[in-house]
Amino acid sequence: MENEKLKTLQVLPRTYGLGTRNRNGVHIVYPITSFLTAAVQLSGADSLENDIGGWQKHRAYLQERTKRTQHTRPDSPIFSLTGKESKFLDLKPAEVKDILLEAILDKEDAMNLWEKDIYNSAIKKGHYGTYNLSGEVTSKSNARGRKAHRKVHINNPNLNRDGTLGINEFNCECDDSYYNDMRHKLYGVFCHHAAALQIAYYNEVKSDKEGVIEFENKKPLNPALPFNITNYNSEAISFLNIEFLISRYIRKKSLFEINRKLTRLGSLLFTPAINSMLDTGDMWFEVVRTAFKKTKDDPKYIEETKGLLKNMREYLRDEDFYPRGYSIEYEGSDFESIGERWEHKDKEKCISLIYKQDMPLHFILKKYQGYEVDLFGDRKITLLEGRKSDVTSRHPYSRIGKEFMEIDDMTRRYCRAKIILPGTVRNTISVPESVSKRYQDTVGLYS
Ligand SMILES: [Zn+2]
Repeated sequence: MENEKLKTLQVLPRTYGLGTRNRNGVHIVYPITSFLTAAVQLSGADSLENDIGGWQKHRAYLQERTKRTQHTRPDSPIFSLTGKESKFLDLKPAEVKDILLEAILDKEDAMNLWEKDIYNSAIKKGHYGTYNLSGEVTSKSNARGRKAHRKVHINNPNLNRDGTLGINEFNCECDDSYYNDMRHKLYGVFCHHAAALQIAYYNEVKSDKEGVIEFENKKPLNPALPFNITNYNSEAISFLNIEFLISRYIRKKSLFEINRKLTRLGSLLFTPAINSMLDTGDMWFEVVRTAFKKTKDDPKYIEETKGLLKNMREYLRDEDFYPRGYSIEYEGSDFESIGERWEHKDKEKCISLIYKQDMPLHFILKKYQGYEVDLFGDRKITLLEGRKSDVTSRHPYSRIGKEFMEIDDMTRRYCRAKIILPGTVRNTISVPESVSKRYQDTVGLYS
């Protein structure tokens, strides 16, 4: 068919979170929003209404500080209140609640996140025995004939002896737990069902009270949690659940966008387990994709690009690189892209493969400069030479072969980065004619 759109290699993001892979090859991504959704789900309707009142006071206080320019970064609002949401501070908590409930109903076709009753409690059949945590968690949206509860299983929801996350494996029946558009035994996105079970478990181990989870033996001592969002481990993060509900359901921001902003809270939001894993490189910031973007571009060029990608991957494997997931590249510039990340076994360098419309498939090579990590990642691009505007507003092809310094989004480490076109270095990758032509045209346009 002549006008049919072709699937390209351009990645469309679905969400963003903290990724990790254990010795058994189990790869899990933890989005912060899963835990915030779960925290809302586990709160009673009354406490949520109270939280709105507390959130209003907190934001009013922050606004006052902003006026007096007293902010330090960690307590700055992650979402600025503009437009109709700025009026939320002047309304009664019950009025804000009604607006929120309507917005949730509009998106989820259900109130499960907020209103719960005895037949619809968030978790049932919770059970912990010999490292295995299982339970059934309510769906946040209308079940529409499917089961209203999703079965979740988490293996070892505790901390390891060295203080890192011990979760070895998890699975859930839902689609949210898909990793990069697939259901896979070894790969998963920690969904809000799994997060709800994990938080409930954490709270019950930390408290003396009986709850929704039945413990086969004595309660273990070290429950794991990646983020500081419960009453037991958080004082710095106030009313993040309400912030999340407003940005997700009123402002209709994507999970990708919300999670990226939340990571700016850095070590305030991350538990010591996560902070130490980020420091050692056992954890990173990862993009999870949905389907690939479609285009009406020249079919020959698209097909040959796919062939080239295949060859580039083979080349990287031969050179001792292994795939790690998707990263954000050229962050904060007009040419921000999603890269396919390959780490080298020496842990000193990585390569991202980038393809986007107006940006034919190319490499970006990054050499890590020491182990310092900048968890807030606010500094983005730092230049070794030249002007910053050359990096933020000029096409990446305009600086092929030139080194620049940046803080890598995925590892938050300082890197010397270089943009490389396949076929131009000592490697033997042959570039198909249609792609080679695009390189010439693009370089001609932007250099
Ligand atoms: Zn799930």
